This record gives sequence, structure tokens and C-alpha cells, in this order.
Amino acid sequence: MQRRYSRPVILGNVQVGGGAPVTVQSMTNTDTRDVRATLDQIHRLVREGCEIVRVAVPDLQAARALKEIKAGCPIPLVADIHFDYRLALAALESGADGLRINPGNIGGRERVAAIVNAARGKKVPIRIGVNAGSLEKDLLARYGGPTPRAMVESALRHIRLLEEMGYREIKVSLKASHVPVMIEAYRLLARQVEYPLHVGVTEAGTVRSGTIKSAVGIGALLAEGIGDTIRVSLTGDPVEEVRVGYAILKALGLRQRGIDLISCPTCGRTCIDLERIALEVEERLSWVDKPLKVAVMGCAVNGPGEASHADVGIAGGRGFGLLFRGGRIIGRFPEKDLVDALVREVEKILQEKNSS
Ligand code: SF4
Repeated sequence: MQRRYSRPVILGNVQVGGGAPVTVQSMTNTDTRDVRATLDQIHRLVREGCEIVRVAVPDLQAARALKEIKAGCPIPLVADIHFDYRLALAALESGADGLRINPGNIGGRERVAAIVNAARGKKVPIRIGVNAGSLEKDLLARYGGPTPRAMVESALRHIRLLEEMGYREIKVSLKASHVPVMIEAYRLLARQVEYPLHVGVTEAGTVRSGTIKSAVGIGALLAEGIGDTIRVSLTGDPVEEVRVGYAILKALGLRQRGIDLISCPTCGRTCIDLERIALEVEERLSWVDKPLKVAVMGCAVNGPGEASHADVGIAGGRGFGLLFRGGRIIGRFPEKDLVDALVREVEKILQEKNSS
């Protein structure tokens, strides 16, 4: 896959763009003023592999709380600012590694300039976050609504504004909840600028529908080489956003992390409770962060073939299953012991990897 060239920007110790791996980010949904709750959530996100985290900064108290959050935050911390430029200045004072602003609602050139100057002094990148739901009125009137062209023009306006101030540490996002609009907007902008793109479908919905929309929208762009960092937006626990983010990247072969589970859909040949087995395997191996391919197959037709391509796998029979490792059968277990046997084998592989 040929990835689009983008200028690198650095947030804390993480590079976005410039050929760096596509990063997975998320946003906390705690009250940012509650430092303990926010840090607890950040640590849960980090355990899932989150690489950049954004927090909402709705008032000065939240902006000040960032200082303590930053002190306990092991990954780059981005402050999400709307309307009040003073919040951006306070967030920078507190040590934010990145800012997300919509320069259109910050209140005029001078205020944007104040933010840019402070960000420049601290070498902090700014994400221009265009959202189809909050486009400028003149663009909505000219384009007849939040079209991809209207979104791109809004982004270009803000990009030019920052460029006129000599600032190029920029990332851009063009989020819409309508997937075809979002895809087209990113495609159009990707041809016109070299800034790294933060890709996401906004207000994508609950875990189930949001996962599908995000996989289609983000996945389509990544498959074309567009996108440097992704955020899956889900109504629910943000930890799920990180899991889905990695699942999208793994599906495209862009990142590897944790278990890549291959399981068959089951059919009339299946003689074991494969759904239960697959769910249990997924659950019991969810803590693994090393890349490992695990196959859970229902029968002897495709089972041995798939299982033999995986690091470890099982192929079901009638009331029993075969355990494979690296293409070789290493055991035959009754159905009730199969998951235990598989998990033991995975633990063994991980131990061997750690000691090698
Ligand atoms: Fe059916 Fe076997 Fe294929 Fe699973 S692997 S869907 S049980 S034929």
C-alpha cells in the first residue's frame, strides 16, 4: 500500500505523519476537572494501546487540571478547545502536547495569533478540526450545506490563516457523521496539502453501528494511503474506540497488536460449540499485546488449513478438537478442555518470545 506523503509533526514523543506508523488515539469522556477519574481512564486507554489522548477543556478549571493530568499521563495529551482562546493559552501553560481547535470559532485573527504564538514557543502542533456540524455560515450558503467541498474550503481557510502566521505544525481533520461525505472531503484535501491527516467519522454512533461506520470510512481512506492518525468515535467506553482502531489497522495490515483471531462462521458440519469457544478465546486473550494469529475453526474441512497458517489454532471434531501450533498437530483434547489447552499454548509462545 502506497501511503500519501505528509509532513511530520511531533506531539510529545510521538510522530504523526512523515511515514510514521498510523497512530491510534482516543478521547476521554470523564470530567477533565476530575483529575483522578481522567487519569484512571487514560491509563485504561494506554493499556489497550492508545498512543495519543485528547481531553475536553470546557473551562479554566479544566485547563488548569491539565497540569496534574499531564504529570501522570504516559502518552501525548491533546487539549480540545472551542470558543475561548484563553483556554488554549492556559492548556499550553499546563503542558498540553497538542491543541485541537476550530479556528473558525475562536473569535478572530488576533486571538488565533495569540494561540499560534504560544504554541510556537512550546513547539506544540495544532489540529485544525473541521466538523460538518459547525461549518461557517457563508460556506453553508455557498455550497448549499455541509458538502465535502465546503468542508475542504473551511479547512483551507484555517490552514492559510495559520500559514500566514508562519505556522506549519498543523494536522487537519474533516469529520462528518455521513461516511461518503467524510471520505470525499479527506480525498479532496489530501490532494491539496501535505499536512498529516487525523481521520475519523464523527458522532458515529453506538459501539455496534459506530464500529461499522468507522471501519468503512476510516478503512476506505487508509486503504487509499490517506490518514496518519485515527480516532474511532463511539458512544460508550472509549477503551472500545482503541480496540476498534487497532482492529481497523490490523485488518489493513498497517499495524500489528494483540490477537488476530480467525474464526469460521460455523455451518452444518460444525459439531462443537464454536461460538462459545471463539468468544471465550477472544475474552481470555484480550490482554495479549504481542501480535499473534489464532485460528478457531469448526471442522476438519478448512480447519486444519487455516489453523496451520496461524501461530496456534484449533479445529473442531465431534466433541473434541485438534490443537495446532505452527502448522503441526500438537494435541487432541475433549471439547471442554480445548480453550484451556489453547490459552496454555499461547502463554507458552509468549514466554518463549520474551526469553528469546
Ligand atoms: Fe463449516 Fe468447517 Fe468451514 Fe467452519 S471450517 S464453516 S465448520 S466447513
